[in-house]
Amino acid sequence: MLILVMTGNTPNGGLSRESGSALSRAFLSLEGLSVGDAFGEQFFLIPEAFDAVVASRQPPAGVWSWTDDTQMALSVVAVLEAHGEICQNDLARRFAQHFDPSRGYGPSMQRALRQMQEGAHWQMVVREAFEGQGSYGNGSAMRAGPIGAYFAPDLDRVVEQARLSSLVTHSHPEAVAGAIAVAVAAALCAQGAEGHQNLSPPTFLDLVQRRVPSSEVASKIRRARDLPQSATLAFAVSTLGNGVQLSAQDTVPFALWCASRHLQNVEEALWTAVSGGGDRDTICAMVGSIVHLRAPQTLPTSWLQAREPLPEHFSALPDVNLRLQLAQLQPSIPTYDKGVNDPGASGARPQSGSHRRPLRGQGCLRDLPQVSLKRAEPQDGHRGEGSLALEEHA
Ligand SMILES: [Mg+2]
Repeated sequence: MLILVMTGNTPNGGLSRESGSALSRAFLSLEGLSVGDAFGEQFFLIPEAFDAVVASRQPPAGVWSWTDDTQMALSVVAVLEAHGEICQNDLARRFAQHFDPSRGYGPSMQRALRQMQEGAHWQMVVREAFEGQGSYGNGSAMRAGPIGAYFAPDLDRVVEQARLSSLVTHSHPEAVAGAIAVAVAAALCAQGAEGHQNLSPPTFLDLVQRRVPSSEVASKIRRARDLPQSATLAFAVSTLGNGVQLSAQDTVPFALWCASRHLQNVEEALWTAVSGGGDRDTICAMVGSIVHLRAPQTLPTSWLQAREPLPEHFSALPDVNLRLQLAQLQPSIPTYDKGVNDPGASGARPQSGSHRRPLRGQGCLRDLPQVSLKRAEPQDGHRGEGSLALEEHA
């Protein structure tokens, strides 16, 4: 059953600053992010099985559960919907409220969110993390795509808002740079209907790195830009990393390289991303949040159906006009099967329209009381999220 949520089109077919369209773009990015996250998570297999499944290009059967990448991105989108901008206090509150350790959070993020749940203010938690230097894990970049989608018409705002969102949990400059990079990449894809339809991989990566503060992340994006077109996946991984360190600088450049090679095809982009191994759920989440904005019609309907449903509020089909704009009026639109992830199956489907217009600045909990930080657990010596523990996913 195809559900049509019709809203007004923009007169010139391009992006609009109207908040409904902004939110639709964020939902679309979230959709790609969640499918990528859930898809990648299915590939934490023993090496022999991993190689066989990737070679066969047969995605695993069954329900694809999503992980912390999606869980945190849901809060990002909820904050954008509520405030029309990143309200850091509300974002921290939602991160803590929805923390679910079964979703595969990294060890340092688990500690931080538990402290917030116990009443510690996020600013104190972040300030104390990793001897005051902050985390440079990939956890803020993995959830940044919807921010780029939301603010796509204004890249300055994309950079500012991605930075604000990162600082809530990941204050190290490398993590901030990673979040900015993913958000800008998503914004560029959302701008596809305004003249960036045919970006070559080097051009795309160059446009992204111009907006990223000086950092190892930026340096490695330039390295990705300069890889020859003939570069193999293995060479890209050896040059850029694949997230096995769980750091922003080890994850974001490779994710952007994968996206840049397949800006017109979500399925190909995700197969490429997962083939690199490493932190595959997060890399696929980043890639999905970016490329799905450009080519939503290329995401197999069966993949959408396999992904564990999102909470009902977030399951709305992004409006058809937006899909058509972003897909350059190609006729193939993914359908939603009733009873699988049909957001209207049990009522209360989110709707487009003026009543969903974000209230800019209103309700932002800027004056939450400062609460003293409880003594943190001894740190594990890693400044990022730790290192990838394959056994956790076996
Ligand atoms: Mg994850």
